[in-house]
Amino acid sequence: MSLAFHHKLLHSSVLHERARVPRGRVYCLAATTTKPRPDWTHLAVETRPSTAPGPLISPTRPVLDDPSLKSTWGHRAWLACGCTAVLVSLAKAVVASCESHVWAEPILAGALGYVLADLGSGAYHWGNDNYGDASTPAAGGHNLHALARVVASVVGPIDFICNDPTMLGFVAICSGCIMFSQQFHSWAHSTKSKLPPPVVALQDLGLLVSRSQHAAHHRAPYNNNYRIVSGVWNEFLDDRKVFEALEMVLFFKFGLRPRSWSEPSSEWTEDVEEESYQVEA
Ligand SMILES: [Zn+2]
Ligand SMILES: [Zn+2]
Repeated sequence: MSLAFHHKLLHSSVLHERARVPRGRVYCLAATTTKPRPDWTHLAVETRPSTAPGPLISPTRPVLDDPSLKSTWGHRAWLACGCTAVLVSLAKAVVASCESHVWAEPILAGALGYVLADLGSGAYHWGNDNYGDASTPAAGGHNLHALARVVASVVGPIDFICNDPTMLGFVAICSGCIMFSQQFHSWAHSTKSKLPPPVVALQDLGLLVSRSQHAAHHRAPYNNNYRIVSGVWNEFLDDRKVFEALEMVLFFKFGLRPRSWSEPSSEWTEDVEEESYQVEA
């Protein structure tokens, strides 16, 4: 299920300098993709390079060599259904706009959906990282498929009953961005040289979450930059400590303790090659 994630650390003062970081792992519960996970059974348990306390993996979390994490035809079918639902709503929005000659509202609605999708991806990622496990609905090791299932179930019926181009424009863009937020996330873990140029351009323009911005999510204090569509909400919400306040509310109201309070990172392990720490301009 994992891409060969390469965690980029961007130090503006030492561009092109290889960071002296031992081979380790970054963790991210929401960073799963459609690709089958590699066989991890040959890997030895690594010693955490930092001095941070806590277990490497929570006992409530799935293990990486769990066969249940591999994509199945059922997962792929849900992904196909989710994509179809999004494309149908987009096509209906375009057709309805053509017929009604109304373009401004659907385009604005799509833009609003794009902005709100970033917010939604942050809430989902934060909840997944801090409170989710394999048994959590729409969480665990098959995030993309789980999100596709939700999108197919919600957007599919809307496609049947709705002919309003503005509503359809909002639904298509918002649901599509939320569903593919996992892909945007995995691109944020890749290196510039390994990404398609259009993806790099979108990241550099800030339309997709940038590699440097998302790298901060995997650095101490491991409790920020959760938004993974465009990342446009990251600075605003992190500066105001919105999710930290939510964590306090959940802890004092319900006794729920977020993983970010006690673990260096709270997510799936992903391989980090030492070479990937080489900083690109
Ligand atoms: Zn994460
Ligand atoms: Zn990540």
